[in-house]
Amino acid sequence: MTKQTIIIDNLAFVKRNERLTGELSLHDCPRLSALLDADAKNTSNKYSPSATLKFDLSGKQGVHGQALLSLSLQANITCLCQRCLKEMPLILALNFNYSISDMTEDDLMTNAIDEADDIDLQPISPHMDVIALMEDELIMALPIAPIHEQACASLVNQSGEKPNPFAVLKSLIKP
Ligand SMILES: [Zn+2]
Repeated sequence: MTKQTIIIDNLAFVKRNERLTGELSLHDCPRLSALLDADAKNTSNKYSPSATLKFDLSGKQGVHGQALLSLSLQANITCLCQRCLKEMPLILALNFNYSISDMTEDDLMTNAIDEADDIDLQPISPHMDVIALMEDELIMALPIAPIHEQACASLVNQSGEKPNPFAVLKSLIKP
């Protein structure tokens, strides 16, 4: 399987109101993959991280003629809970807005462009690497130490026995 590459001319993409959707695997994101693998080394469990990443990238012009890109990422990752070291699902739904411009962050401030807070800058590029951008965003969104939201199953049943709801009654009945 060869790694996918998605390169766009970002200004042309916006001018044509283009839209690009697709799906990536960890194979396409070696840096993200390496990061998850590093966590997996903490355990002796047979475990290999996996992920499905759906993306939706669209270009449009803003009301002031700005070139805007919006990106939605839906990641379903199987990673390792850093508390119980068992596999856990991690679902990330992320949305980003970019303004394609050769302006700097300072220019944005002085020009007081609307919603500047919610919009990240991306330099104008005829060869913008879309997968690298998505991978960067995912790596930044990834929790440093993902843990099960609720109590970890293996820690709840540490005794290894199924809790018997009648056990308490039994001990009460005993003479
Ligand atoms: Zn856990």
